Amino acid sequence: MSDDDSDERFETRAIHAGQEPDEETGALMTPIFANSTYVQDGPGEDRGYEYSRTGNPTRDDLEDNLASLEGGEYGRAFSSGMGAINTVLNLLEAGDHVVAGDDVYGGTHRIFTQVYEDYDIDFDFVDTTDHDAVRDAMRESTELVWAETPTNPLMNVNDISALSDIAHDHDALCAVDNTFATPYLQRPLEFGADIVCHSLTKYLGGHSDLVAGALVTDDEELDEQFGFYQNSVGATPSPFDCFLVLRGTKTLGVRMDRHCETAAELAEWLDDHEHVSTVYYPGLEDHPGHELAAEQMDDFGGMLSFELDASLEEASEFVSQTEVFTLAESLGGVESLIESPAAMTHAAIPKEEREAAGLTDGLVRASVGIEHVDDLKADLQQAIEAALETA
Ligand SMILES: *Cc1c(COP(=O)(O)O)cnc(C)c1O
Repeated sequence: MSDDDSDERFETRAIHAGQEPDEETGALMTPIFANSTYVQDGPGEDRGYEYSRTGNPTRDDLEDNLASLEGGEYGRAFSSGMGAINTVLNLLEAGDHVVAGDDVYGGTHRIFTQVYEDYDIDFDFVDTTDHDAVRDAMRESTELVWAETPTNPLMNVNDISALSDIAHDHDALCAVDNTFATPYLQRPLEFGADIVCHSLTKYLGGHSDLVAGALVTDDEELDEQFGFYQNSVGATPSPFDCFLVLRGTKTLGVRMDRHCETAAELAEWLDDHEHVSTVYYPGLEDHPGHELAAEQMDDFGGMLSFELDASLEEASEFVSQTEVFTLAESLGGVESLIESPAAMTHAAIPKEEREAAGLTDGLVRASVGIEHVDDLKADLQQAIEAALETA
């Protein structure tokens, strides 16, 4: 951590880590340093900054803040979650092999298979909750194990510590996409992961008004490589977006508390609903990842999925009928969003494969926002009544 704040608690660090009042003006908030370039006192004698792709004070403050929240030493911010993921892949060379979860984010699957396979990097997608399957997939050339937890949209919970051990037994790195949990609920570095990756677009930004990403690590050498690729590839965030994320991280704890509380209440309610067959929420005791989530996470998060007893048409009608829940992809904002994976985020997967993976036509994914829980319940109820002929 850049500041000596490691003994302070999360909520305090969220507000103060990496952020000091501006020395010259006393401005309390980190200013938006809208600069491409910086004056030099003589050739090569800069005052710490020379060009904003290489370094920017607003971005620096954000990077220190994010490192602190993940309990890590080093943070790097990017122009999107995909920009951050791309930077991890920049570490690899032709001939290298990666083992990844079979239910990773669609954009992650796309960059792996449609971009990096062309550079002669091999990917195996396995059920990362099955550690024998992960071990079997490891090769001499495996350099990276990639996992998310909880996963999208079935909220499978991966054991970060077990996956890190398998990776390290094979001299590979373990990277965890912590977008769904956020560092408020789960800090992968504590469980042995080498790299934490984020789409800041989601909970950390928290207001659906920006796109950004981040990487955090404890390893100085890795961080230097990330810095090299950040500057060489150029997927850096604007100072304005860095400012917005800093604004978001300040309230992350209070927002997550409400997201978790409301999602848990909706999950219980849906679980008892006559037109819902299954609810996927790690906070429910019968969820297969419940015990692990209880150990690895501080709470169960704001994402849930559920299976309506409905055809694809009825499920599509249901997500179109909600009024408080907005029909949209993405997640993690203060407003509740709803979507049909079979018709939207996962529509590209052939129906048979989709169903085999549990992504049935009636599946609905919700990003539970911080509106009043009773309004959210009433909204789901009226949409079920409107969409299901039998309701
Ligand atoms: C959204 C998302 C990403 C990609 O992030 P962008 O900011 O959209 O580029 C990566 N991983 C997960 C889990 C996501 O939800």
